[in-house]
Amino acid sequence: MIMTLELWCPFADHKPLGSQTQPKIGVPRIFILHTMSGFLRGTDSMFRTSGYTGTESTFGIGGSYDPEPLDGAIWQWQDLTHSADAQFAGNRYSTSVETSDGAKSGVRWSDKQAESLIRLGVWWCKQTGHPARLVTSPSGTGFGYHSQLPVWNENSHNCPGPVRLGQYKAEIIPEIARRLGGTHATSSTAYPGRLLRYPPLLKGDDVRRWQAQMKKIGYSIDVDGYYGPKSKAVCVKFQKAEHLDADGIVGPKTWKAAFAHR
Ligand SMILES: [Zn+2]
Repeated sequence: MIMTLELWCPFADHKPLGSQTQPKIGVPRIFILHTMSGFLRGTDSMFRTSGYTGTESTFGIGGSYDPEPLDGAIWQWQDLTHSADAQFAGNRYSTSVETSDGAKSGVRWSDKQAESLIRLGVWWCKQTGHPARLVTSPSGTGFGYHSQLPVWNENSHNCPGPVRLGQYKAEIIPEIARRLGGTHATSSTAYPGRLLRYPPLLKGDDVRRWQAQMKKIGYSIDVDGYYGPKSKAVCVKFQKAEHLDADGIVGPKTWKAAFAHR
């Protein structure tokens, strides 16, 4: 089966921490932001001493406090569909993103670091099908931060702190949404950029939009946002009616055919 989900970000430096010992989480739902209280290299060596145990993150982004080539560098320690241990209960459904602050609290991200965070956010939305918006609960989809919810922050870290949180809300998330533009708005009929297929069980706003459209054009389907066996069966039925390959996968052609019906 063709997979379009990129497990390793193509513009990140890939830094796996040894053999995989973490549970598979499937497509993550929430992008959880952190600040390192440290440097990119130091954080990397800390993770490396304990492999996939301890408090490793999925990604880390260097800043202006790191030596020059590391300002804006994106390092990836864990693939997108396995757990990383930086946020307690959130580990089971999140991508965690550390950002270097050179062990200084209350500092803004450098321009290069902010740009990398935005690029990474855009890539993450395209992989997961989730929107660029701040989540309001652990069952949401989109962007969060470490200190946002007690279940993610049992040690009560002030992470990422008020300055970076302000930047995140006012500059980073809106810019990710702007770059995703009409091709990714949750109300859009444009192809969301990932294949909807089963297994594994996929969840997302893109699934919900496709289900709503199938229902609108007369198919019997639950609009619950989960692409499981029932959605797959509806997809096959629709593909046969449209003389498309009946593989049960909603890719660009099947999506377009569905939304061509008014
Ligand atoms: Zn944190």
